[in-house]
Amino acid sequence: MTTIVLTGGIGTGKSTVSRQLAQHGAVVVDYDLLAREAVEPGSPGLSAIVERFGDGVLSPDGTLDRPALGSIVFADEAARRDLEAITHPAVRDLAVQQVLAAGPDAVVVHDIPLFVESGAAPPHDLVVVVDVPESVQVERLVRDRGMTEDEAHARIAAQASQEQRLAVADVVLDNAGTPDELIAAVDALWTRLTTSAS
Ligand code: ADP
Repeated sequence: MTTIVLTGGIGTGKSTVSRQLAQHGAVVVDYDLLAREAVEPGSPGLSAIVERFGDGVLSPDGTLDRPALGSIVFADEAARRDLEAITHPAVRDLAVQQVLAAGPDAVVVHDIPLFVESGAAPPHDLVVVVDVPESVQVERLVRDRGMTEDEAHARIAAQASQEQRLAVADVVLDNAGTPDELIAAVDALWTRLTTSAS
C-alpha cells in the first residue's frame, strides 16, 4: 500500500487533484466527508458532543447545530480542545476503516484540507501540497465560488499559510498554470507512485 496525504488551501485545486487521482484508481479518504459522518445523528461522536455541550447544540431535527456549537468553541479555547478530543479520534477511526477496506495494493489518498492546522497525521509515505499564489486563489474563488475578494481573503487568512503547507510538503503540485498542466502533473505523480519500489 502506498499512502499519501493531499492538502492545499481553499481554491488551490485540491479537489481537482483528488478527483484525478480517484480517476486513476486511488482510494480517496475525504476528511471533510468523514468530519460530517463523525457527528451525524446516531453517531458516538454526536452523543459525546451533546454530553459535553448540552442539548443546546442540537437542532430540532436531531442534527448538530453547527452555528450553536461554533459560537461556544469560537470563544473558548478549552471548549474547542474538548470538541477536538471528541471529533479527531472519531474521524481517525472512520479513516482507518476505509484504509483497511482498501486492500494491500491500494494507493490511498488522505484528502485533508486542514492537515497543517489539525496537527494530526495518519501514517503516510508522502505529503502532497497543491500550491498557487494567493492572488490566484482569490481570483478563482471570486470567479467560481461567488465570493467577494474580501470574503476570499478572509477565508484564506483563517487557514494555514501556503508557506506553512510548503514546509511539510514532500511533493508540490504547482497549479498556477492551466487545468491541463495540473492534470499532467497529477498523472506524472501517479506514475511515480505506482512504479516506484514499495
Ligand atoms: P479546492 O478543492 O482546493 O478548493 P478546486 O479543485 O475546487 O480547489 O479548484 C478551485 C476552482 O478553481 C474550481 O472551480 C476549479 O475548476 C478551478 N481551477 C482549478 N485549477 C485551475 C487552473 N489550473 N486554472 C483555472 N481554474 C482552475
